[in-house]
Amino acid sequence: MAHNEEYSLFEDVCSFVDDAAQHMELHPGLLDQIKQCNSIYKFHFPIRMEDGSYQVVKGYRVQHSHHKLPTKGGIRFSEMVNEQEVMGLSALMTYKCAMVNIPFGGAKGGVNIDPLKHNTRQLEKITRRYTSELIKKKFIGPAIDVPAPDYGTGAREMAWIVDTYEAFNPEAINAKACVTGKPLSQHGIEGRTEATGMGVYIGIREAVSVEEDMKELGLTTGLKDKKIIIQGLGNVGFYSAKYLTEAGAKVIGVAEWNGGIWNEDGIDIEDLKKYQVENKTFKGYGKGKFVENSIDLLENTCDVLVPAALENQITSENAPRIQAKIIGEAANGPITKEAEKILLEKGIMVIPDMYLNAGGVTVSYFEWLKNLSRVSFGKLEKRYDMEKYKFLVDSIENATGDAFNQEQRDAIIKGASERDLVISGLEETMVTAYHDMNQKRKDKKIKSLRTAAFILAIDRIAVSYTDMGIFP
Ligand code: GLU
Repeated sequence: MAHNEEYSLFEDVCSFVDDAAQHMELHPGLLDQIKQCNSIYKFHFPIRMEDGSYQVVKGYRVQHSHHKLPTKGGIRFSEMVNEQEVMGLSALMTYKCAMVNIPFGGAKGGVNIDPLKHNTRQLEKITRRYTSELIKKKFIGPAIDVPAPDYGTGAREMAWIVDTYEAFNPEAINAKACVTGKPLSQHGIEGRTEATGMGVYIGIREAVSVEEDMKELGLTTGLKDKKIIIQGLGNVGFYSAKYLTEAGAKVIGVAEWNGGIWNEDGIDIEDLKKYQVENKTFKGYGKGKFVENSIDLLENTCDVLVPAALENQITSENAPRIQAKIIGEAANGPITKEAEKILLEKGIMVIPDMYLNAGGVTVSYFEWLKNLSRVSFGKLEKRYDMEKYKFLVDSIENATGDAFNQEQRDAIIKGASERDLVISGLEETMVTAYHDMNQKRKDKKIKSLRTAAFILAIDRIAVSYTDMGIFP
């Protein structure tokens, strides 16, 4: 994957903010306050390895904005983690939450390790130690800062975090809300695992539903038969590909860090994922052409390119060769500032990360609410609703003398489960935000959806500061 020592995600994000600010009237002090990271915590701790040696691990937690509390954002385990990266990712969380109207400030955490080089016992030790470092400095808590999964972490790590937090805070009745993305048995929520990918699908579906925008790109509306290339088949890439395929799109290329697969007839994503889990590579997968240098796959012809791995993948170096009509940023920061300029000049539509991958934090918000209320969604009203709808259906049948068929009856009577409500909340958030962002782009007569998204987000943050009386 592309990697450049000079690159700073945080600087890129600040520069996107500056672009948006040109279309706004903001007090310069306020703009400066919005851009800065409010708190940065960097620490080191030693881990004893299985062979008796020691490794000193670098950890970070950055809270970018306290304009709303708690702050919110994932924890990344990767050897590429550094201060600039965590700062940039935490800033993106602030704008992401503001953009989709979720009441959190932004944060991000990182641990500089390669999780593949550690066994489960060591990973547990590292996660618990990282958590106790956060507790020590009050950098975690349901009202303070609420981590979640990110690249290299998942529900298992979140379970270790909540368990550690509870051990240090035995009387905190809200302790479960100190982290989201937990396993269901540990007070997680239905749908969180697939939420980011589902949000990516909804966002792309909305984008391709706008006739005048598709006309400009020379595309028909709808997802049916759209050719898709995905980079990264982790949690986000896999679920994005799965829902896009189920809606009629065709995934023709998948790029992973250790090689890609190309098949113009379409790739069966669940089958490929199964092969990857078993073999740790796509090499030897018979149903497509194996591509050694997978980054090249991003330059192939397709309708929608979905980078779902890491930042800094489409740079000024490869941007001129990108042939996609639409790029949906499922990862955080996959396109550099310089690259985006080139892509927009080529007439490519970029659906920005801070909108497109906001499904994860949206469902995290629902999980946090569930933990604070200590009751699962739908539990109280489901049966009551079912009885009421049954009464209504029976009354209609009696009055008309006509009967609904079983399918119609079931659809009307069914009360909403936790999963139904989560998906409904996710749909509402993603659909509304897409059209707000696109409308803002048109009102401001600009090409970039990203600039439009930043304008919306900064506006909300600015109102928050001015309503506190901090800035004029
Ligand atoms: N790590 C995810 C993101 O980048 C989710 C954050 C969360 O759920 O708090 O948006």
